[in-house]
Amino acid sequence: MNPPGASTRTHCPYCALQCAMHLDTGADGRLSARPADFPTNRGGLCRKGWTSADVLTVPDRLTRPLLRKDRDSDLVEVDWDTALDHIAERLLALRAESGPDTVSVFGSGGLTNEKSYALGKFARLALGTSQIDYNGRFCMSSAAAAGMRAFGLDRGMPFPLTDVGSAEVVLLAGANPAETMPPMMGHLSAPALIVIDPRRTATARVALDNGGLHLAPRPGTDLALALSLLHAVRVQGWVDTDYVTARTNGFEQAWEHAAAWWPEQTELLTGVPAEQIRAAADLLGKAARNHSAYILTGRGTEQHAKGTDTVSAWINLALALGLPGRAGSGYGCITGQGNGQGGREHGQKADQLPGYRKIDDPAARDHVARVWGVDPDSLPGPGRSAFELLDALGTPGGPRAMLLFGSNPVVSAPDAGRVRERLASLDLLVAADFVLSETAALADVVLPVAQWAEESGTMTNLEGRVLRRRRATPPPEGVRTDLEVLSALAVRLGQPAERFPTEPDTVLAELGAASAGGAADYSGVTPERLAAGEALHWPVRAGQEPTPRLFLDSFAHPDGRARFTAVAHRPAAEEPDSEFPLIATTGRLMGHYQSGAQTRRVPELNSAEPEVYVEVHPDTAARAGLAAGDLARLTSRRGHTSARVRLEPTARLDTVFMPFHYAGAQAANNLTNPALDPTSRMPEFKVSAVRLEPAPEP
Ligand code: SF4
Repeated sequence: MNPPGASTRTHCPYCALQCAMHLDTGADGRLSARPADFPTNRGGLCRKGWTSADVLTVPDRLTRPLLRKDRDSDLVEVDWDTALDHIAERLLALRAESGPDTVSVFGSGGLTNEKSYALGKFARLALGTSQIDYNGRFCMSSAAAAGMRAFGLDRGMPFPLTDVGSAEVVLLAGANPAETMPPMMGHLSAPALIVIDPRRTATARVALDNGGLHLAPRPGTDLALALSLLHAVRVQGWVDTDYVTARTNGFEQAWEHAAAWWPEQTELLTGVPAEQIRAAADLLGKAARNHSAYILTGRGTEQHAKGTDTVSAWINLALALGLPGRAGSGYGCITGQGNGQGGREHGQKADQLPGYRKIDDPAARDHVARVWGVDPDSLPGPGRSAFELLDALGTPGGPRAMLLFGSNPVVSAPDAGRVRERLASLDLLVAADFVLSETAALADVVLPVAQWAEESGTMTNLEGRVLRRRRATPPPEGVRTDLEVLSALAVRLGQPAERFPTEPDTVLAELGAASAGGAADYSGVTPERLAAGEALHWPVRAGQEPTPRLFLDSFAHPDGRARFTAVAHRPAAEEPDSEFPLIATTGRLMGHYQSGAQTRRVPELNSAEPEVYVEVHPDTAARAGLAAGDLARLTSRRGHTSARVRLEPTARLDTVFMPFHYAGAQAANNLTNPALDPTSRMPEFKVSAVRLEPAPEP
């Protein structure tokens, strides 16, 4: 235990802003957080950050492995050797019976870069499986795919967040940072904001209070709205033709899909008044003329079965205005999970190897295999994406075992009831977690692992900035780190111990070598440079300076030009009908994070938002026979959930909203649609057709 008065500078365990904080040790040995100065948070923390140390000491913290001998038995405490021997024995038996792809791995955008890297390596070498993906697929994969096709490279924000604060105008599409990342609003106080969101969110209120705009499209129609803004920008004379000619390809092909979207036409589909569309185009266009505007997207645009095309439509608008690749303007994605950026770069994605390399690229396979000391032909190919993997579990030809790290898909995956059934059908489910989460409770083996402040590692924030999480306290006795778990399992599966080191800095050095020459090159990220300052925006090549601003001279496509993508509006995968007449959309609350496994255990956060609610327009509620505070039942084609009614006069009449941090009968994801984007494989979290009716009081 650290002595009283000790303090460690580190970063918040939650979102991709990665606010800096000091963890101070009190007289009783307990840690408490206070903000530290850092470019993203500028000395601020949200309530999750302030209370983050409380997660370390939750009463139901696991400190011994748990094992269920068979499906009908309860989980009982065992020692580590018993748990690890059991897992290895079962994995080897299943692999001998059905081949390596019978074993699968599910990771997380919350894992450090070192763990993400080690998990991908473990899957491909120790298990020999192609079946690995992670919950980041549910986060910003559509923006990543759209960024790749437009710019040839995906770094969420290809500029420092501090640049945004000096812009004249910022358009936020499907992002609500006032609720999800409050310190970010410090960067958004000066610009006029244009908020695109079906709800009058906290961010939309800030925009309106400061002379900006709030455009509230019907959920699932923002692709058409983005096309219409492109239309208005062209008609109103704001296209930067010199930039479009000099730095891009494909404008006319993209325009063909925007040409029909006159604002009046768009109003009929989206419900956004035509004059608001024209006003937004003028506001953006004038700022773009001064190279002083940004377009930022969030989950609201991305979590759709057409999420990649929707983000492409926003990028097309940015390109037409001449924003990307210029100082003072640009396009960026506001990544959500703490290591949503780094988590997608180092090999825990089904189709990738470290360094953001494609797993089916022979040169990438050669390079990584050389670093790993194996034959490139021994590396498996691409596997299933996150939902496809979860949905295949226990089915003929699908995996019969899963190892799950840092994720709680029973709450966070779409069609959560179906995911729960699939997980429960496995021959072996192993969960590494710090508590018995809703998913861990289904497992055959639960491994108690260290938390963020109990181990060191690196994270990559929403600006592609690599930073150091520092250990502030040892883990409780009996708890191991994920790296120690992977190493111990790998050895039991026949791997040499030296191939799976447990020291994070040793893993970082190897990650650097494996990523060298790739798009996300970390070969110059060293403990010394991290200690000297955390301004390491990737690529950070060995011996070279980091890259805070990308694309200033050229984009990453071979011809150096950005690409417009010709994208057309299409309806949501599921539209309301007489049986399910409303649209349900989901989102986040200030006091909770992801599946709530951490934040629902923090008394201060839980007491502020202890249960799920459904936000409904008063007229919509009255039509359903509901009043404020009533218990409502929401039903979709996939399942149902119960929630207290909160009336919101600014809500759309056709749309209800639920936060997704709650479990069981309160889980919003009981309702959500797993229809997948064809490019990113992102599920359609944001549009589900539902029925709203009174529920019996318990
Ligand atoms: Fe900052 Fe996000 Fe942590 Fe809040 S949750 S303190 S915004 S990093």
